[in-house]
Amino acid sequence: MKRSLFLGAVLLVTVPTAPADESIWGFSPEGAAAERQWEARFSALPSADSARSYMRRLSGQPHHIGSPGGRANAEWIRDQFRSWGWTADLETFQVLFPVPKLRRLELLEPTRFVAKLQEPAIPGDPTTSQPGQIPTYNAYSIDGDVSAPLVYVNYGIPDDYERLERMGISVKGAIVIVRYGQSWRGIKPKVAAEHGAIGCILYSDPNDDGYHAGDAYPKGGMRPAGGVQRGSVMDMPVRTGDPLTPNAGATDSAKRLDRSEAETLTRIPVLPISWGDAQPLLAAIGGRVAPGDWQGGLPITYHVGPGPARVRLAVQFDWQLVPAYDVIARLPGAVEPELWVVRGNHHDAWVNGAWDPVSGLVAELEEARALGALYREGWRPRRTIVYAAWDGEEPILLGSTEWAEQHADELRSGAVAYLNTDTNDRGFLDLSGSHVLERLLNQVAAAVTDPETGLTVQRRLRLARIGNAAPTGRDAIRGRTDLQLDALGSGSDFTPFLQHLGIASANLGYGGEQPGPGGIYHSIYDSFTWYGRFGDSTFAYGRALALVTGLSVMRLASADVVPYQFGALVDAVDLYAGEVKQLLASKVDEARERNRQLDEGVYQAMQDPRVPETVPPRDSVPPFLNFAPLDNALAALRTAAGRYDSVAAVRLAREGPMRAADLAPLNAQLVQVERALTEPAGLPGRPWYQHTIYAPGLYTGYGVKTLPGIRESIEQRQWSTADAQIEVVAAALRRAADRIETASGMVERLR
Ligand SMILES: [Zn+2]
Repeated sequence: MKRSLFLGAVLLVTVPTAPADESIWGFSPEGAAAERQWEARFSALPSADSARSYMRRLSGQPHHIGSPGGRANAEWIRDQFRSWGWTADLETFQVLFPVPKLRRLELLEPTRFVAKLQEPAIPGDPTTSQPGQIPTYNAYSIDGDVSAPLVYVNYGIPDDYERLERMGISVKGAIVIVRYGQSWRGIKPKVAAEHGAIGCILYSDPNDDGYHAGDAYPKGGMRPAGGVQRGSVMDMPVRTGDPLTPNAGATDSAKRLDRSEAETLTRIPVLPISWGDAQPLLAAIGGRVAPGDWQGGLPITYHVGPGPARVRLAVQFDWQLVPAYDVIARLPGAVEPELWVVRGNHHDAWVNGAWDPVSGLVAELEEARALGALYREGWRPRRTIVYAAWDGEEPILLGSTEWAEQHADELRSGAVAYLNTDTNDRGFLDLSGSHVLERLLNQVAAAVTDPETGLTVQRRLRLARIGNAAPTGRDAIRGRTDLQLDALGSGSDFTPFLQHLGIASANLGYGGEQPGPGGIYHSIYDSFTWYGRFGDSTFAYGRALALVTGLSVMRLASADVVPYQFGALVDAVDLYAGEVKQLLASKVDEARERNRQLDEGVYQAMQDPRVPETVPPRDSVPPFLNFAPLDNALAALRTAAGRYDSVAAVRLAREGPMRAADLAPLNAQLVQVERALTEPAGLPGRPWYQHTIYAPGLYTGYGVKTLPGIRESIEQRQWSTADAQIEVVAAALRRAADRIETASGMVERLR
């Protein structure tokens, strides 16, 4: 926070404001003039006080999926939409949501200790002592009762197991204790099971989000000794949503798998604990001292094991079906009603969830109130606007995935975009999404003022990116008109829309000032009291988020021509293509260098014989791959995108109305461009994920893998798959280029 305020203070006085640009991408001059008037009216409406009052109410009781508080919130949100002039209903699905019946973790040897598995209430934070809190657990862990020696595996990512192997330590038949961080939590038990572990304990190390990062709650905002991160451990990189109804909406009558057939549950039992519970377990582990970068923030020396610590881990769940109540609200489109602009935020939380998700939800509600007011004053969006408040995001994007699967046909044919928010805080705008939306989102970000610096939110983000970039990357940021969007991995409700259905999507929210909200994530301390002290206390960023997202929705819904620009897509794919080529080249170099060092005896010479590690095995040097199809398809896409962006700019700058009868087929064509980037057969080994440009990583979870079919095949050294995936991506790019060419012809024929 200090750093960014300093930046702002200096730049406020030195940077002249850019001249006002009256054009809005996608709008004719007449359309833009009318749009500006409605936008000015809209921008006056969202209020920080309203956002605060919604948060007080919506975070006032625990409201996980299936709870009375969750249902009450869904009904209240629906009624708010109705009172603002929207049609709004609950759409209900029946989804598998396990809740714990038994949780037991004890140290059996060399001493005895029973883990508390309970987050203590905090005096002065009234909701922390409420009844109805869901216990601390990981959703979609299987049932199990295992006793075994304990092994500490650092963050539990594949590299950590390679290191263990070189130390001669196996986790076969062991229970592993893993710290949160570095990968999505669901990856940790997956990798542990792949290496033969029979149980997995996750804990929050104070180095990562506790007292090393800042004062613990309630003195500061970070994780206290008893704080636990709940969360899903489902195999999300394979598919999201209800494990029993893959590819179909989980309606009452849906065909369900037996639980034993569900692919996405864990293979071993998993339980999350606090550092207070972890410390006696870690302290009891003997064997080798853990490597220096494996040492955490507790006042002990971390050892790897196995043993002499031996633990029992027992978990049992009630594998119930519960209703997921999605709130779906609509304002009808006046001209192209079959084209939908969809905007969503989840309403369920792990407990009270003031930050996650209510801080994003209150922005959505303020947009909805304002859009409802505009509608009553005569504003008529060209396209249909759908606002959703999803249930069951926390277990594994249940409400959004089931709705997207249930309405897949309508969405594939008519969805213009999906705009998501989730958590919101102070700081920098997170500008992530499909690159066809880059121009739109930049124009909007340049029109909204940052509450703390008085700069535009786009300007503040640009300066932060320059400040954070490597010296060689700074000029690239300075030299571009628009900020490049970050690519989306997963972690919130955009995934089924973007990566399953191929709908251009964005995820928006503010954050990034330190120390952030990581310390209360998924705990009972994510409360209204915490948010008022350590979050966006004035709700100025709640208002700013409502402006960014609301203006984006208005432009997507009312632009004469759907406001995509394709040059940014070309730039992004070009960048990613360069990265995967570089990845292969670096694998070749690494393999050659490793083998050379083995021949020279480097590893052997560097050993300390008292703590030996085996030398790494020889590498096979990767073959050349043929990237020509990718390069050719990218060239075709570049030509098509350049033509479209310029003919559209020329036509949109011309005075005179465009005929609705000409625009409708053009817009129907444009919305199919992102769909063309999907491959119906899906990614290797995970057919549900169909986008060829963006996916969550198989071994990173939330972290994005761009050109995932190619990139992950190279990472996993599957060379023939990589070759085939180059052709798959090339075909997708050619399909997109064809769509864009057709759209260019239609623009040229517009009168
Ligand atoms: Zn969330």
